Amino acid sequence: MQKISKIFLYDEPSVPEIKIEQLATFLGDTLQIPVEIRENFFKHFTLDKTISHKLASSRIYNIYTPFESHQPTKEEIQAEEAIDKSSDNIILYDGFEIQNILRDSIPERELERDIFHLIITTKLGCTYDYDDYRYHGRAVICSNPAIISTTGIIEAPAKPREYYLFLQQKMALGLNLDVLKEQFRGRFLEYHDKRLNIIIRGYALQAIFYHITLDPFCHFKECILHNAHWQEDLIYTQTKSGKLCDQHKKILELIKNHE
Ligand SMILES: [Zn+2]
Repeated sequence: MQKISKIFLYDEPSVPEIKIEQLATFLGDTLQIPVEIRENFFKHFTLDKTISHKLASSRIYNIYTPFESHQPTKEEIQAEEAIDKSSDNIILYDGFEIQNILRDSIPERELERDIFHLIITTKLGCTYDYDDYRYHGRAVICSNPAIISTTGIIEAPAKPREYYLFLQQKMALGLNLDVLKEQFRGRFLEYHDKRLNIIIRGYALQAIFYHITLDPFCHFKECILHNAHWQEDLIYTQTKSGKLCDQHKKILELIKNHE
C-alpha cells in the first residue's frame, strides 16, 4: 500500500454547496491523515500563459475521435485565464491531458508520492473509451493529482431511463425542460444541488483509496466507494447509505495504522 502523509485539498469556490472545511474534517477523521485546504488550484498556482494555452489545447470538440491537440483561439486562451468568470457552457477536456498539465504546475517538492493532491473543479475531464469509440465525462479522474469534477458528478452518471424516454417524447411535441425536471425532481442532481456536499465525500475517498490501494471501487451499492453509473444509485449510495462496506472498513483500518 502507498502511504499518504499529507493531503492538499483544493477548493472550488464557485460551487459553495461544497463546504470544504466539512470535507477536510471528514477526510482527516476517516483516514487519520492531515488535510490542508487550499484555495482554487488555478489561483493557488498562478497560471501563466503557457498553462492557459495548454488547457485550451486540451479541449475536446469531437467526442467521437481520440485526443488530438487542439489549436486554441485567443478567446479560448483568455477564457482559461479568467478563472473567476464561470461559464454556462460545458467545456469538455481530455482528462489525462488536463491531469498532466495540473501535475506540471505543482512544484517538485510537493510531488513526493506520499503527498496527495485532491483538486475540486468545475472543469469536466473526459476519457476516450475504445469500447464504444467515444469520450465520456468523468466525475473523478484518479491518480495524483486526482481531479473531482463537480460538472462530472452532475453530468456523468446517467439520469433515470424514463427521463430519457420522456425527453424523446416531449422533444417531438415541443419541449419544456422545466416541466420534465419538475417531474423527476430529486431523482438526479442538478447544478448547485445541496446534496453535493455529502456526495463529494464518496468521490474523495475513491480517489484516495485509488492512490493507496490501486483498487478503489466497490461493487456493493451500500458502500461509498461504489462507482455509480446511475444518478439514482449515486444518491442512494452516498446520501442514504453513506458508509463503507465491511471489507473496505478493514482496509481503512490498515490505512489508518499505516500498515
Ligand atoms: Zn466496499
